[in-house]
Amino acid sequence: MKKAYRMVHNENLCIGCQACSVACRSENNVPNGVYRLQVHAKMSGTFPNLKTDFIRNSCVMCEDSPCVDVCPTGASFKTEDGLTLMDHSTCVSCKYCILACPYDARHVEPKTGEIGKCTFCFETRVSKGEQPACVTVCPTDALAFGDLNDPNSEVSKILNSKTHYYPKAELRTKPKLAMIANRKGGNHE
Ligand code: SF4
Ligand code: SF4
Ligand code: SF4
Repeated sequence: MKKAYRMVHNENLCIGCQACSVACRSENNVPNGVYRLQVHAKMSGTFPNLKTDFIRNSCVMCEDSPCVDVCPTGASFKTEDGLTLMDHSTCVSCKYCILACPYDARHVEPKTGEIGKCTFCFETRVSKGEQPACVTVCPTDALAFGDLNDPNSEVSKILNSKTHYYPKAELRTKPKLAMIANRKGGNHE
């Protein structure tokens, strides 16, 4: 059976420590100056009643991916399990995918000129049955990853029991990265 991968970022548990971002950089040799994953702090309220939300910004693995739709060479493609990955050997660095992504999730690698983004660590970890690097280091269990088709997976248990939202759901790209948050709106910023 095909996998229905999901990642969950629980903002109510996230403390903004950036361990996930550092682990991602290490796992994927992400060069300085660019990011596959950032956790942004967003402050709201009026002093002294201030609140900080920590918001994950990375590829959300759209089911209907604008980046794939515009790629002229097929270098941006879908796996049979619906993940969006890159074939760097056929990428011509036209950057159409960067412009098409509504989540600002792609970048140009400074030295190689290759297009980079979060892969859910598919090639290096998930395809071997391991968890993504960012998930393994989170000290508060704010991140979870797994197969929604497996009712016993952690993501199934979380998403079946907690209110969650998908960022920019109104764009109908069907993200696979779900957020849990108390804040209203659910904008992906
Ligand atoms: S490692 Fe976990 S707690 Fe730290 S910023 Fe990332 S998601 Fe938040
Ligand atoms: S978030 Fe951007 S890079 Fe990721 S699948 Fe969607 S359109 Fe493509
Ligand atoms: S899944 Fe892998 S590539 Fe994606 S943010 Fe986490 S560590 Fe980075």
